[in-house]
Amino acid sequence: MKSFARMLRAALRYRYSVVVGTLCAMMVGFFWGANIATVKPFVEVAFQGQSLQQWVDREIEQARQALRRFTFQTRRLQEHPQWDSSPRLRSQLAQLQHRIHAERQALQWYQRLRPWIYAYLPQEPFPTLVVICMALLTGTLLKGVFLALQEVLVTRVSLLATLDLRQALFAKMLQLDMRTFSREGCGELMSRFTYDLEMITRGYQALLGKAIREPLKMLACLIGAALICWRLLVFSLVLAPVAGLIVSRLGHLLRRANHRALQQMSAIYTRVEETIQGIKVVRAFTQEEHEQCRFEQANRQYYRRAMKIARYEALMRPLMELVSVGTIVVALLGGAYLVLNSQTHLLGIRMTDRPLQWSSLLLFYGLLSGVSDPARKMTHLFGRIQRAVAAADRVYQLLDRPVQVHDPPRPLPLPRHRQMLEFRQVSFAYQDRQVLSQVDLQVPFGTTVAIVGPNGSGKTTLVNLVPRFYDPQQGAVLLDGVDIRRARLRELRAQIGLVTQEPLLFDDSVLNNIRYAKPQASDDEVIQAAKKAHAHEFITTVLEHGYHTRLGPRGRRLSGGQQQRIALARAILRDPAILILDEATSQIDPESERLIHQALREFVQGRTVLMITHRRSTLELADWIVVLDQGRVVAQGTHEELLARCALYQRLYSDRLRRSA
Ligand code: ADP
Repeated sequence: MKSFARMLRAALRYRYSVVVGTLCAMMVGFFWGANIATVKPFVEVAFQGQSLQQWVDREIEQARQALRRFTFQTRRLQEHPQWDSSPRLRSQLAQLQHRIHAERQALQWYQRLRPWIYAYLPQEPFPTLVVICMALLTGTLLKGVFLALQEVLVTRVSLLATLDLRQALFAKMLQLDMRTFSREGCGELMSRFTYDLEMITRGYQALLGKAIREPLKMLACLIGAALICWRLLVFSLVLAPVAGLIVSRLGHLLRRANHRALQQMSAIYTRVEETIQGIKVVRAFTQEEHEQCRFEQANRQYYRRAMKIARYEALMRPLMELVSVGTIVVALLGGAYLVLNSQTHLLGIRMTDRPLQWSSLLLFYGLLSGVSDPARKMTHLFGRIQRAVAAADRVYQLLDRPVQVHDPPRPLPLPRHRQMLEFRQVSFAYQDRQVLSQVDLQVPFGTTVAIVGPNGSGKTTLVNLVPRFYDPQQGAVLLDGVDIRRARLRELRAQIGLVTQEPLLFDDSVLNNIRYAKPQASDDEVIQAAKKAHAHEFITTVLEHGYHTRLGPRGRRLSGGQQQRIALARAILRDPAILILDEATSQIDPESERLIHQALREFVQGRTVLMITHRRSTLELADWIVVLDQGRVVAQGTHEELLARCALYQRLYSDRLRRSA
């Protein structure tokens, strides 16, 4: 329910629209009740063939006669010798006085109404009927206008509130730790962006639209019914607690079912995302059927969960309908008893001051039906709102997740790196899996260090600590003596260039993809960087629009080597003090490799470089090689030194380095 309150608060940022929308809803409610109320004059005129003037005169006459009768009866009662001492006679007298009071009031009311009816309404029954129909039409038209206005305002608020939420979610995603990304996965996050937010929009529409309007319509009818006979109304609402019980029980079940369905929708997104990402693998290993099967399982599971919701909702509707018809039946039976017997009391309880007329009972029935229609619509709303709250739970849960890697409260300045990058007693674990243990490593400025080791030995994790994708649980990474956690993230990352195994390019022009590293760079600077990365030639000769060619999603229109060179141009443009190459040359053809090495050889000068590589040719660029095994530095030295004294390095070299050389 906390999420529900937060959703409401978020919508109240657009409070003017909410307030005007609510006023419109009130008008809709009023006209809803007023339209139903036309049934009374309609019955008086149509069924009894009289004009409203005749009707008001008759009512006045009847009230006068009743007054005379009750006054006469009162006088006779008072003449009775024991009227003062007999409780029965006293109660009769009190009742008579009540009726006299009620008749007087009715008489006054009709007398006040009379001149208006004579002045403004036609004298004949049929034209009177036409006037009533016109009033009905006008009421319907006005109700429609207010309804449309409310819908537009509500949609505005719903879309704006979801827009804010989407913005906040995206901003949060940009800040979130890498840990969250690896744990949640892209599909899970995507489903929050798409399906969950869509559910929230619909929930807002229900919440601010019908959930306000329908109760107001109910209220208008209830007020109308209470004006006719409030005691009969209370009497007929004996079943209301049953409705409350149904809503609360089924509501709880619905909420849980909705949560589960949303989770399953995330699982479907994850399946789709994984299959798209790994489509090559799926095809190469002819696993289409297997994937289809797994997807069907997830899909069917969603179907089962969605059906559960449908069953609860389906159960709720007839139950609520039964309760509302039950209410009407109770009212009708009670009311009919009073009308048929010209009584004011039911089961010994006073219901009315004057006996009810048929037309009033009919109106009472109409108004109660006017309550039951919105009540039925609201059961449908209930499911929607529950779904939105379940979705909001998931979205807020992500929004509230604390960011572990953040700026310190009082950041230290971090001038451009000139001295030493140091890992001091660094230990790191993903959840409970220890990946790095007490790593000590010093990399003087300007040195190129290669990190080698078996798969899973923690190489990527180690270099990821430098741009603070993760923070170590123990120990520290220091840059020129400053613990990088004490500096601003922006200042730190501004000094780092990163080229990974899969160089991520965006669906934008070549120019903009390179400029990503330095948005203020001129075209000329970009071209110079591309030249240094040996990318200029293929950009200008192979790509149809040169630097303005769009690269397609993830830059897939280029070969691995071309992508690497663009990524390198990007890193060159940034002019970083620290360069991280994570298997950056692993996927390339010999021609690209030659060009990239040439580019790297020039580029690594005057920078600290950490590179993860298994290629012998790339290793040649390194001044120093560090061998990592199971998260520990087991040896370091030059290639020759390590070949001479490190068994693991020898094995790696003979197994992989030679193969890839
Ligand atoms: P390397 O680069 O040497 O192959 P990594 O640093 O990528 O090794 O991974 C080291 C170990 O940490 C591996 O066993 C891997 O399974 C685990 N690991 C890597 N990334 C994550 C992650 N995001 N969450 C959990 N475990 C991870």
